[in-house]
Amino acid sequence: MLLDLSLDEINEYVVSLGWPKFRGKQLFDAILNGKQLAKVTNLPEKLKKDVEKDEPNFEITKKLVAKDGTTKYVFKMKDGNLVESVLMKYVYGLTLCVSTQVGCRMGCKFCASTLNGLVRNLSAGEILQQVVLANRDQNGSLKKRAITNIVLMGMGEPFDNYDEVTKFLKLVTNKDGFNISQRNITISTCGIEPMIYKLADDGFSVNLTISLHATSDEKRKKIMPIANAFSIEKILKACNYYFEKTGRRIGFEYTLIEGENDSFQEADKLANLLKGMPCHVNVISLNPVKERSLKGTDQKKAYAFVKHLNEKGISATKRRTMGDDVGGACGQLRSSLLEGS
Ligand code: SAH
Repeated sequence: MLLDLSLDEINEYVVSLGWPKFRGKQLFDAILNGKQLAKVTNLPEKLKKDVEKDEPNFEITKKLVAKDGTTKYVFKMKDGNLVESVLMKYVYGLTLCVSTQVGCRMGCKFCASTLNGLVRNLSAGEILQQVVLANRDQNGSLKKRAITNIVLMGMGEPFDNYDEVTKFLKLVTNKDGFNISQRNITISTCGIEPMIYKLADDGFSVNLTISLHATSDEKRKKIMPIANAFSIEKILKACNYYFEKTGRRIGFEYTLIEGENDSFQEADKLANLLKGMPCHVNVISLNPVKERSLKGTDQKKAYAFVKHLNEKGISATKRRTMGDDVGGACGQLRSSLLEGS
């Protein structure tokens, strides 16, 4: 598909079809602006026919705007699968949370994305298409971007689709393309430890966030099956390596689950684990997923947990829950449009 290609590759492609090179740039601009080829007027009909089979393969099928302005986009792909992106409005700009897989096979006990397992990986172009369409919908263009930040925190585990995800990173940071700085991109992982080293060794310097959610391996195993494969100690070691290589402060997600991980004792343990590490902890209260029995910690207690961490010298903030009234909050993205979602 055309969005899998860089400008140079598109140029090569149109030349190989017998067209002059400048047509490549016109085609590239059209698809990155989210235009449907049928509606593009500056390209010959014959060229459009030549590349028709490679046209980006999905559109926005549903758009839900929450009370706080958070917007959930649902995309229907050619094979009938659905993926979602969530757009969040901050004072500094628009952040798009993109999906990297249809479904997920990580099996975290609190997350809706994993309920049907992994359906398939998204290609780099399919991840990019979410950015293209949301940008267009927010009245942005390739030259004048509306989307300023990207987080790979939607459906799927980015490190379970490493090759396509890193190809997407190259495309979206390319100066011919959206030219988004790596500083404005965040990858979130449940902790596939070897891939943290690989990302650093492959020369990337995006922000890295670890979904930690527990302070001991024993407790973590109960809610996150990946903890059976990689210990917290190993993950933290990899994070230190990532920091040394990139200079980027590490993020940790800590989702508060009532009665499970939200006591002051747990806050103390968390502070001990992260002591001395250049990091920031994002605390969030668990968002409800109706198939799951786990409950989120109430606001007051969540703020007290954060305060306790701060008093122990840990940089931590409570993240606002955004978009939960449209099923767009963390852990609520799913691969099928179930009743009421
Ligand atoms: N697979 C990646 C990215 C997707 S999940 C990862 O695990 O990091 C994005 C974040 O939402 C993760 O921190 C995840 O643990 C969290 N999350 C999942 N379900 C949630 C829920 N019900 N409430 C709050 N956060 C949730």
